[in-house]
Amino acid sequence: MSDTTYDMIVIGGGPGGYECAIRAAQLGLKVACVEKRGSLGGTCLNVGCIPSKALLNASEKFEEANHGLAVMGIELGKVDLDLKTMLGHKDKIVGDLTKGIEFLFKKNKVDYVKGAGRIAAAGRVVVVDGAGTERELATKHIVIATGSDHMELPGVSIDEKRIVSSTGALSLAKVPAHLVVVGGGYIGLEMGSVWKRLGAKVTVVEFLDRIVPGMDGEIGKNFNRILKKQGMTFRLSTKVTGAKVGKSGVSLTVESAAGGDAETIEADIVLVAIGRRPYTEGLGLEEAGVALDDKGRVAVDASFATNVAGIHGIGDVIAGPMLAHKAMEEGVALAEILADKAGHVNYETVPGIVYTWPELAAVGKTEEQLKEAGVAYTVGKFPFSANSRARCNNTTDGLVKILADAKTDRILGAHILGPDAGNLIHEVVVAMEFGGAAEDLALSFHGHPTLNEAVKEAALAVGGRAIHI
Ligand SMILES: Cc1cc2nc3c(=O)[nH]c(=O)nc-3n(C[C@H](O)[C@H](O)[C@H](O)COP(=O)(O)OP(=O)(O)OC[C@H]3O[C@@H](n4cnc5c(N)ncnc54)[C@H](O)[C@@H]3O)c2cc1C
Repeated sequence: MSDTTYDMIVIGGGPGGYECAIRAAQLGLKVACVEKRGSLGGTCLNVGCIPSKALLNASEKFEEANHGLAVMGIELGKVDLDLKTMLGHKDKIVGDLTKGIEFLFKKNKVDYVKGAGRIAAAGRVVVVDGAGTERELATKHIVIATGSDHMELPGVSIDEKRIVSSTGALSLAKVPAHLVVVGGGYIGLEMGSVWKRLGAKVTVVEFLDRIVPGMDGEIGKNFNRILKKQGMTFRLSTKVTGAKVGKSGVSLTVESAAGGDAETIEADIVLVAIGRRPYTEGLGLEEAGVALDDKGRVAVDASFATNVAGIHGIGDVIAGPMLAHKAMEEGVALAEILADKAGHVNYETVPGIVYTWPELAAVGKTEEQLKEAGVAYTVGKFPFSANSRARCNNTTDGLVKILADAKTDRILGAHILGPDAGNLIHEVVVAMEFGGAAEDLALSFHGHPTLNEAVKEAALAVGGRAIHI
């Protein structure tokens, strides 16, 4: 095999692509990963999960130091914000982690090819580097892992200065007096929370009559109420029709989603966070004959194979929730399949987490989905206000809700709004992976006093036998 002939070439070095490359190399395949960004880790490490969580954590500490400690007898006086250092801290984490993936590539002998990849045909990838130099690589398998990009809103063009995408919102040079977030999904609420805690007035404009669409309705309503209590303003059932950028800010025109009189909202910064779309530009998919679905995603079968033999797709660029861990699991499963092993992703147990305060985490079905499917179910709920550890920590907002099959007691879904929900959800994920019943969770030991006991109590409540409520 020559230097430029591979078993697998992965186009895109995000969580889907890099995990696929590493696992395939571990299984003995000769692998290259082509990435055009200049650093590995994709959206997630560079401008997504990691920088947003670094800022969420730092801003949460700032908020706590300002408002959350006096009640416990800790007086800090005035707490100052050094935004430059906070952003620098975030950038350092991103730099360290992206270099970490380079290290893992070297360790596993994955060739990191810098440049933009294009599929010339099945088995042939052309890479153009930063200097414009082209070279062609040959391979048995091509993996499209080119991820996604933010969606644009007609009439509101993103300049990453006054009107920003999530990428711009991760690096604002100063705290805006008024940040308007267009879109009440997880990215808008997370970034809105960051800047709210750092001192901005935040208004969320959402077309639908609710935030976090797709999440359980009851939990979404509770979440909305808590965020309002924190001081976020919501304009639901409202559509943005245009934006005018001036010297000192943006005039955003809005009207009722059902139509009506136009109104103007003045903002210092507008964040457009209305969703993400699959990214396939410049890949040569049409020429290679690779079929897309009706939403512009690379169409694949259950083994991640496209309609062209030897070309596969994983991650945000194919159907399914646009989440890093979903992309990672698909990457590993595909590597296993191509190395003649069994690769499998259980889409019934993909957790979704919003890392605000409190956090919101969900797995499986919502109550609305079960109703629509006509499934008979039982519900168990437990509020954090009745959990002793949450009371010690002064974090009593929210609840755990577990949905189980009425006949078999099998867990069908879990929705946690509360402190550390993003960690708590995983015991339910594991239980569901094993086909567990609510009773399995309810009768498992849970250390005392822990937040996890709220999960146990909600599971007990499914059978009508919670103790502490
Ligand atoms: C602000 C924000 C916060 C997020 N937070 C979370 C979170 O907390 N948890 C979570 O699970 N998900 C989160 N996500 C979503 C997560 O980032 C994505 O689901 C994940 O990155 C998808 O991985 P991927 O490998 O499919 O694609 P990507 O990470 O998008 O990587 C694709 C890579 O392909 C490269 N590429 C594209 N075309 C070419 C080409 N022709 N040649 C070479 N390279 C190419 C791109 O440069 C990119 O680096 C967040 C996203 C955003 C924007």
